[in-house]
Amino acid sequence: MTTNSDCIFCKIKNGEIPSAIVYEDDDVYAFLDLSQVTKGHTLVIPKQHTKNIYETDETIASKLFARVPKIANAIKETFQPIGINILSNNEEAAGQSVFHLHLHLIPRYDQEDGFR
Ligand code: 5GP
Ligand code: ZN
Repeated sequence: MTTNSDCIFCKIKNGEIPSAIVYEDDDVYAFLDLSQVTKGHTLVIPKQHTKNIYETDETIASKLFARVPKIANAIKETFQPIGINILSNNEEAAGQSVFHLHLHLIPRYDQEDGFR
């Protein structure tokens, strides 16, 4: 599995930087975002380093997106949201700050819970 030694998410997937793991298999790693937009905000990455969607081949993309229903349901089980946003920032102009492809899974709650 290709790793970029300067990449923070490669270090996370390799266990060199600690993370709160949500899901892992041979191809994909999911962990809580350090800065929780809502409770359970999760990042899903391919283990194979790839900069963003523009540089990602179909095999990596297929494996990444194939795991999303399972991970979204695991988040649902654990955090009991009533909905979830799935999004990806690609290139600086779109808000990408870590250049290892990732999906944000952002659970949504009743506004009365104090989380949106
Ligand atoms: P982007 O802006 O590239 O779409 O999202 C990068 C995300 O990575 C941000 O939401 C940021 O909070 C998260 N992040 C950055 N560094 C770390 C880290 O060391 N650990 C974790 N868990 N999340 C991080
Ligand atoms: Zn990486």
